[in-house]
Amino acid sequence: MIDLKKMVKRYYNSHFGEYPQCEGCGVKISESDVSDVEYVRTKRKTEMFIHKACVSRVWHG
Ligand SMILES: [Zn+2]
Repeated sequence: MIDLKKMVKRYYNSHFGEYPQCEGCGVKISESDVSDVEYVRTKRKTEMFIHKACVSRVWHG
């Protein structure tokens, strides 16, 4: 299982202190949000963080 807190932290550290944004609603995601967040890594090695509530909007949008 993915440690999402670690992934958020890693994103934060590698983006000069920027937290990732939800691909669905654009809200910033921090470590405390990870229980409601899905992490996706695309074939192009893009990392995406999406609220569980926003997943359907992104995939079917
Ligand atoms: Zn969202």
